[in-house]
Amino acid sequence: MVAVAMIGTLGCTSNLEFGGTWISGDVHVHSSTGSNDTDGISFEPDIAAAAAGAGLGFVVLTDHSNATGSMHCEDVEDCPNLGPEFPAEPSDDGVMLVVGNETSPLNAGHVGCLPPDGGFTFDGAFIDRPDGDVTAHDAVQQCRDAGGWSVANHPFGVAWLDWDWTTTAYDAMEVWNGGWRWDGGDVDALAAWECNVAQGLHVVPVAASDNHRVGIVPPGEALDPPLGQPRTSVALHEDVAPTWPAIRRALQTGRVVLHEADTWVEASEGSWAPKWERWTIVGESPGPAVVELRSIPRAQDCDPAAAEPLSEVLWSADVDGSFTLDTERIDHEPDGSRLRYLALVPPTWSEPGEGGVALTGLLETPPG
Ligand SMILES: [Zn+2]
Ligand SMILES: [Zn+2]
Repeated sequence: MVAVAMIGTLGCTSNLEFGGTWISGDVHVHSSTGSNDTDGISFEPDIAAAAAGAGLGFVVLTDHSNATGSMHCEDVEDCPNLGPEFPAEPSDDGVMLVVGNETSPLNAGHVGCLPPDGGFTFDGAFIDRPDGDVTAHDAVQQCRDAGGWSVANHPFGVAWLDWDWTTTAYDAMEVWNGGWRWDGGDVDALAAWECNVAQGLHVVPVAASDNHRVGIVPPGEALDPPLGQPRTSVALHEDVAPTWPAIRRALQTGRVVLHEADTWVEASEGSWAPKWERWTIVGESPGPAVVELRSIPRAQDCDPAAAEPLSEVLWSADVDGSFTLDTERIDHEPDGSRLRYLALVPPTWSEPGEGGVALTGLLETPPG
């Protein structure tokens, strides 16, 4: 019996769908219009052109607490506070350009805020100062109040950017930040996301570059990643135009692939029963790698701040280049957990700066 039929029969909810048209985007990009740390070389037309060249279909500009101005100016020459403000619109080369925000308090956590369907319309400002006054909870709430979709950006890594864990009420977690490709901070963020979903939270994993200088070419340098490295792809139904509302809704479902330009992993088919499951997995790897089907147990007592991985590998295979794999039937005891995701990883621990990684969002199926 195929999965879709089972879902209909049992009336269970699941985010699992197959098919559709994938569109790739970068949801964490800084522009010189609104962020002071871009060397003045990354204006919107440059970003749109570079995005088109990199195969991206959408870009969310997330300048530091900018658009309606809150960045304090004591330590910034030519204080910007003049972020781009326009409704989501396609550029001349067809890239959907969207104005978001990255509320950027010190020592609390940065919050990516993706705008509502029609763009931000409020008159206020995203507030991140004075230093020490704004918590991650406050920043997430500001995003919510503005109708935005909140992302816990780079929650681990550099002390003054790390998440303060005053909230887990974000909509998404940036489990993969472009800092230095797949690195230790990303490993920790992925573990925190596993804990979030183990506790039953609907948190969508995203990957984004945090690009500050549009001219950086792959593979980039530490803390200076190229646009679109990494990126998040979402699936749209064939008859749906790639408008910002459609892209945003696709993101919200959590059916995502997190990857670089030359990596991919996706479940293209699946079926399951209480004691078994079977998947067709397709993907792309630039070199020898391992594909893992990971299972996350339901756990109420984990602590996302502890960044301890919870997942177990249910199935794996060696790959190199393009692949289509059938897992065959995987038998197991019903465990009440149907939280799965796929990971394409190098055969051994990848040093920061190496590529070859891809992840899917949750393949959440009705419990066995
Ligand atoms: Zn940041
Ligand atoms: Zn940023």
